[in-house]
Parts: sequence; C-alpha cells; structure tokens
Amino acid sequence: MSAYINKILEDLKKDHQPIFLQAATEVLLSLEPILKAEKKYQDHSVLERLILPEKSTIFRVVWLDDQNKARANLGYRVQFNSALGPYKGGLRFHPSVNLDILKFLGFEQIFKNSLTGLMIGGAKGGSNFDPKNKSEAEIMRFCQAFMVELSKIIGDTIDVPAGDIGVGGREIGYLFGAYKKLKGFYDGTLTGKGLKWGGSLVRTEATGYGCVYFANEMLKKANQGLEGKICAVSGSGNVAIYTIEKLHQLGAKAVTISDSSGFVYDKEGIDLALLKEIKELKRGRVGDYARAKKGAKFISTSEYKSGTNGVWSVPCDGAFPSATQNELGLEDIKLLYKNGCRFVAEGANMPSTLEAIEFMLSKKDFYFAPAKAANAGGVATSQLEMQQNASMTQWSFEKVDRKLQDIMRDIFTVSYESAKEFKNEGNLLVGANIAGFRKVADAMIEQGYI
Ligand code: GLU
Repeated sequence: MSAYINKILEDLKKDHQPIFLQAATEVLLSLEPILKAEKKYQDHSVLERLILPEKSTIFRVVWLDDQNKARANLGYRVQFNSALGPYKGGLRFHPSVNLDILKFLGFEQIFKNSLTGLMIGGAKGGSNFDPKNKSEAEIMRFCQAFMVELSKIIGDTIDVPAGDIGVGGREIGYLFGAYKKLKGFYDGTLTGKGLKWGGSLVRTEATGYGCVYFANEMLKKANQGLEGKICAVSGSGNVAIYTIEKLHQLGAKAVTISDSSGFVYDKEGIDLALLKEIKELKRGRVGDYARAKKGAKFISTSEYKSGTNGVWSVPCDGAFPSATQNELGLEDIKLLYKNGCRFVAEGANMPSTLEAIEFMLSKKDFYFAPAKAANAGGVATSQLEMQQNASMTQWSFEKVDRKLQDIMRDIFTVSYESAKEFKNEGNLLVGANIAGFRKVADAMIEQGYI
C-alpha cells in the first residue's frame, strides 16, 4: 500500500466507522495504480476531499402510531458528492440505518453513478424506522413526517432521492405526495414514481435486470453464457425478484430466495408468479413461499452457521447476493467455490466482505462482478426517469430497456478496459473503481477547490 493511501486510511480509522472504512478501503486500495500513474490527483488532494461528504443532514422524525402515541426516529441525508450532477441515491428505512451505513452507501453511490456515464452526483439517506409490522397508515404518516425535513434540502436539480431497502413504490408515493404538498409544485424530484404520475417503465425491474445484463457481458468475455446455469440468489425484494425474472428469461435457473427469517431452496427453480404474489401483493415472507410450493425447502436463520448451511450452501454455477451488506463472507465463498460456483454478481451494495472479495479475485477460474458496476442499472434508470420528467414525456418499455442494456454493456467495457490499462486485466473491481473515480476526480479538479 502506498504511503499516501495508508495515511488517509489511518486518519479515517480515527473516526471509528467500520462499514464506511470497509467501503473506503476497498476503493482506495484499488486506486493505487492510477494514483501512481497520475500525480495530479495527489497534487490536488482529491482523495482527502472525496472521502468527506459535502453535507450531511440529521433530523428528528416524529410520527403518530395507530395508538395515537408519538414515536420518534432519526432521519438522514448524506449529500456526498455533486461534481458530476445533482445528488442522487436512494433512501433506506431499516433499523440498522445509522450515519456509518449511509456514509458507506453514499460513498459507493458516487462511483456507481459516475460509471453510468450520466450526470448524477452521489448521495444516500434514510431512517432507522422499521417498516416491518407497521400498518399502511403508520407507513404513510412516517413518510409524510420524514418529508417535512427532507423537502427542505432536495429538488430536481439539487438532490433526487429514490428507493432502497424498505422504500419501494408505496413509500415513494407517500413521500412524493408529501413533497408536492409541502412545496406547492410538481416536479421530478424522487424517482421510482408510479407509472401514472411520472415514473419510468423498467425502473422497478432495472437493478435486477441490469445485474443480469452485466453478468452476461462478463461471462460472454470468458466465452460462456447464462444459458443452463444454476444460480443462487439471496434476498426476496425488488432486486432479487427481477434478477430471477431476467435469469429465467435468459435460460438460467434461480433456485434460492431469502429474507431475515431464513432461506428457501427450490431445486425445480423459483416460481416467479408465486414469489411476486407473496412479496409484492401480500407483503409476505419467504417461509410462505415454501409452504405454498411443493418440493421447496425452508431453512430458518436460527439454524444458520456461516459457511455450512446458509443460502450459499446450495450447489450452483453462480451467485447473485441481492440482500444487504456483508452477507457473503469468506467461509461462504469458500463453500460456494467448493460446490462449483464460478461467478458472483453483486445486486446488493457491498454484499461481499473484503476477505471474500480477495478470495474471488485470487482464483483464475472465477468471475466477480462488483456491486458498484453490476447494480448500477437501478440508478441509471432513475436518471432516465429524470430525463423523461425534464422533457415531460414517457418512453416505451423497449426503449428504456434498450438504453439500460447499452448502459450496462458500457459499464462492463469501461471497467474491463480500465483494469487492462492499469495492468489488472480481468479485475473488474479495480477497473470499476478506477473508471468511476477518474471521472469524478477530474471534474473536481476542473471545478476548483470548493
Ligand atoms: N438504491 C439504489 C442504489 O443503491 C437506487 C438509487 C437511485 O435510483 O437513486 O443504487
């Protein structure tokens, strides 16, 4: 590790933020070749500036539960970097949310958004509010209370939030309704909107579809394809569902889904219609799927032991971690590899630990598609939604899907080529980080010290 990077990481450690530190370590270490080749980044203190959010806002959210009792949560928006365009990134509602998690997500978002080739800066926000077991009315009241503060700092050329874990179409609807009422005008702030009121076709499917398009490009480069491949998928939210849909369309077979209660192994292949009914209509759990589908097995989280029996213990050709950060550790990847898995495409943000990544990159016969490249299809399609809103039009499903495919192909190409340029051929993590960084860093230099 160079002395420059080492010093920055050591300084960061003083802040005691383990998850952000993990994300920063992954990025910074892979920037070593470009920092060595181009002195200007160090001369202009680009890293020192890039690792600090431009602005973080923390606010109180007070809402009434169904018993008319006042409840209070923390709300956040980390506006990390605006060198390439208005801040852009999702909102996460989950009890684990804190400033550390949102800084990691916002930091990742900078490079991911840069890789899309579109004009968007990086941000992330959310709350430690837990949507689980809340009534529809409680969710609505929470979203409205959250927007009272958030509306003061967002706008269609300022900061455009979207969904993430715990924030889907329903929540975006309530958030948008409150935004419109508070502001007194109608604009494209917030993406992932309903199709009847400014949303884009394909936005719902985009992260999952995009991840599979990316995996396909990666396999094509290795003279392989997805046809006939058995795939383990974790999660059962939006990313997982549309990863499975696209895998099946391309002739692969997804055999697992999971949530915090456990995972389901359905050797016959996940029944997508049943999964959508349970998750999208009934807002149920994966255990409901196993009860409804003959032959599907449910293994509860209480029985889980890393590297032995989790979702990553099923035999497969490829894995699509699509749930949350650090869900795939060293023991898991070793087991996957032993059972025949030869590629991972990350649908979630930072689902693999640093040790798991190191293992994957050390294997000559293994292909690794890192999150910030592989799951960029969601935010890219959000930006396509912004384009449609700005011109007051709506494009067809085919047109958006074609653009999404082109964007994912371009992200693969720029990541692959950047890795090659800096003598790390095949290492898409290094390639994606360098390509994402280069654009933001150059913009920061050109825009001066502000
Ligand atoms: N939350 C998604 C992500 O992690 C989408 C963000 C967006 O569409 O702004 O990229």
